[in-house]
Amino acid sequence: MTQGFDYDLAIIGAGVGGHGAAIHAVSCGLKVAIIEAGDMGGTCVNRGCIPSKALLAASGRVRELRNAHHLKTLGIQLGNVDFDRGAIANHANTIVSKLRGDLTNSLKRLNVDVIQGWGKIASAQKITVETDKGEKTITAKDIILAPGSVPFVPPGIEIDGKTVFTSDDAVRLESLPKWIAIIGSGYIGLEFSDIYTALGCEITMIEALDQLMPTFDPDIAKLAERVLIAPRDIETKVGVLAKKIIPGSPVIIELADFKTKEVVEVLEVDACLVATGRVPVSKNLGLETVGVETMRGYIPVNDKMQVLATGEPVQNLWAIGDVNGKMMLAHSASAQGIAAVENICGRPREVDYLSIPAAAFTHPEISYVGMTEPAAKELGKTEGFEVASVKTYFKGNSKAIAEGETDGTAKVIYRKDTGELLGVHIFGLHASDLIQEAANAIAQRDSVNNLAFRVHTHPTLSEVLDEAFKRAAGAGSH
Ligand code: FAD
Repeated sequence: MTQGFDYDLAIIGAGVGGHGAAIHAVSCGLKVAIIEAGDMGGTCVNRGCIPSKALLAASGRVRELRNAHHLKTLGIQLGNVDFDRGAIANHANTIVSKLRGDLTNSLKRLNVDVIQGWGKIASAQKITVETDKGEKTITAKDIILAPGSVPFVPPGIEIDGKTVFTSDDAVRLESLPKWIAIIGSGYIGLEFSDIYTALGCEITMIEALDQLMPTFDPDIAKLAERVLIAPRDIETKVGVLAKKIIPGSPVIIELADFKTKEVVEVLEVDACLVATGRVPVSKNLGLETVGVETMRGYIPVNDKMQVLATGEPVQNLWAIGDVNGKMMLAHSASAQGIAAVENICGRPREVDYLSIPAAAFTHPEISYVGMTEPAAKELGKTEGFEVASVKTYFKGNSKAIAEGETDGTAKVIYRKDTGELLGVHIFGLHASDLIQEAANAIAQRDSVNNLAFRVHTHPTLSEVLDEAFKRAAGAGSH
């Protein structure tokens, strides 16, 4: 261990980012402490990825078993399909507790000191922790800040946690109101619309921008809207924002035109999920002691994850995960944690965000890696290359046909001159798994010309991408 310090590395926040950094640091021979004010595992394990995916697993099966048409195609006939809301909620809670326990045990096994309390830096190498038993000070050669994020609640919206709530409450599935308004059509809003409609709720989805799912590639958003929104009778209102939301029975929602901010409609619903994004946790962290100013709350970092103060790295201080706003996903947080530790150990490493995939775990799923077509074209304009794209469809894939799940498409975006893969977007069965091949290809900056010759197992859904790569390679003069 580094002489003169209590630890080689101290980490504030035991979410996926902090936890991933701790495990990697131990494997590099560092003595590590991790400070956590709340539940071990942070957002992902307790209020994010894990409980939402557990709810999606249960509600997805309810949807499938109730989808008589789909099952009849496979020759299956079922009686009435019922579910128990409490048991579904319990299933999610049980998984959360198990994973939280596993994570805590793994840190114990690795001799990571877990300190429960609020951590604050007193310098780039000193932390004070407010614990139950009073204040504790520790020193470390390096400090990683991994305090994560919390739901963003726009002004004018009152959260009571019962009738108006964020994903923090929604993952507990304490009730199933008949009519729920969902504010925001990002991946969290979409996943909950999937859960709620499968379990019989009526949904109104409200999006401030002119298009639903504004962060997805426009072709994918259009198709996903045809499959995930229209047939489920989800009412949509785009170009309007929730100016005021008052909890109660009913919940009152004042909708205003996004551009003029004039109130255009007042809705009365049974409940409202506010899924309007997330904000970093960067207050009361002691950042001022090292001269760091946040940008819209995010802690500025360079490509090595070093914290920046007026553009210059603060030696020995690092920030990873949602708090730096680079890419607010669990696997991005842990990749950043590993990169920070590598840099601490003197092995230079940067995170390649272009090759980090993302997914919405709806039924069917949406996934993507790299650029959307408009973003790729924008880059092409500035760098002087042309962009092309091809789409293949699940309805032409033999495995999808055998499964009776033919909704979906894969879109491949590439440079016309070199064939370099720039982005891949998939909407369809198991899209979140299928995207990994494309992520690996983008990490290698591979071209469709090479990818067209990779052999895929037949019959598998992966042939949707195989066909797209082949068509792209055949279509261009690269
Ligand atoms: P967090 O997980 O937020 O952890 C930060 C931890 O730091 C918290 O435990 C907090 O208590 C602690 N902390 C904060 N300040 C202090 C302090 N001063 N002292 C001590 N402790 C402190 N991502 C995916 O990749 N896939 C998904 O499917 C997915 N689904 C999601 C679903 C929902 C509903 C939500 C809300 C998020 C989802 N995410 C998903 C996003 C993912 O959860 C986050 O990107 C990820 O948790 C960020 O990890 P982190 O380590 O940066 O922060």
